[in-house]
Amino acid sequence: MGTPQRYIAHFDLDSFFVSVEVLLNPALKGKPVIVGGSAERGVVSTCSYEARKFGVKSAMPMKTALQRCPQAIVVQGAYANYAQYSAMVTDIIANRAPLFEKASIDEFYIDLTGMDKYDDPFQWTIRLRDEIIQITGLPISFGLAGNKMVAKIATDMAKPNGYIQVPPGKEKEFLAPLLVSRISGVGEHTLQILESMGVHTIQQLSQTPRSLLIHRLGKMGESLHEKAQGIHTSPVQPFHEAKSVSSEHTFEENITDTEALITELVRLTEKVAYSLRQDGQLAGCIAVKIRYPDFETHSRQTTITPSCRDDEFIPAAIQLFQDLYATGTPVRLLGVKLSEFTREPIQPSLFEDAAKKQHLYQAIDDVKNKFGKTALQKARTVKKKNNDT
Ligand SMILES: [Mg+2]
Repeated sequence: MGTPQRYIAHFDLDSFFVSVEVLLNPALKGKPVIVGGSAERGVVSTCSYEARKFGVKSAMPMKTALQRCPQAIVVQGAYANYAQYSAMVTDIIANRAPLFEKASIDEFYIDLTGMDKYDDPFQWTIRLRDEIIQITGLPISFGLAGNKMVAKIATDMAKPNGYIQVPPGKEKEFLAPLLVSRISGVGEHTLQILESMGVHTIQQLSQTPRSLLIHRLGKMGESLHEKAQGIHTSPVQPFHEAKSVSSEHTFEENITDTEALITELVRLTEKVAYSLRQDGQLAGCIAVKIRYPDFETHSRQTTITPSCRDDEFIPAAIQLFQDLYATGTPVRLLGVKLSEFTREPIQPSLFEDAAKKQHLYQAIDDVKNKFGKTALQKARTVKKKNNDT
């Protein structure tokens, strides 16, 4: 045999934000709970399984959710708590796992390939799950399989609060009866095309000629053909605790218009704040960098109250920019960096207003995750762009 049997575990905390809220307020246990925005304009960020029974889903407008489940308890959660619990789970996994990837605030892949020589990977993973539950009190599910794609689907099937192993070599068999919509990346559009071809299950997909799938779906068809056979080679990306997140933009032509520069600065700040929230971190320092056409580069930073909020970062970034920028000078590159990460929870007294805003970011991030990172841009960025054209 050529390549060794791979063992990949995928862990996913069940309705993570709701589970944290239940831990903090046990009276919510067993009730239909929604973490999300206001009834008027917000969207559902996460909901409990009790709320799902009424047809409530993530990214659904809060209005619709409350029509379906009027008795739901709506919580406008505090992001710092989620960041703290995410960090706790990350630490437990980091202490045990030989190689792991943090795929999002509540999702992890662990590569256990080679472990079968001295331990049973399934038993090892069960013990790790027990430890996570014991220490954090949070429900978590896992799937163990020969690759990331199958492991993730197995986790989805194991939920809530369960686990599944797909025995080595049985990936294709496991997938066969499932609907094609289980495969990540199969959106509404792809689904429609597949249905029009009479392809509903993964087995039907696996039996559809590769050339036909490529003809109808291009590159997507090629990848779907592989996935339907249970083949997926994407590696587990080693997790490194980030020390900073940054983003920069080089302009195609040097820019002198201050408004245009600030618009870009806001966009970059929103982008880094989004990554920060995905990592479940709070940042205590923000820096802005400007590079001029002669490659001379200036940067300036400032300490802030640890935060993950756009509306705290943006004014700080603009202030730094104004301190730094010699008005009228052409700019070649603009950058924003967040650093001095902390896991310390913010004192509740600091929240009041913060909690209201943080729920909004969760909702926004969920929509970004679902529909792509450019799906949502705040009014300012959008408006400015329209004015530019
Ligand atoms: Mg989850």
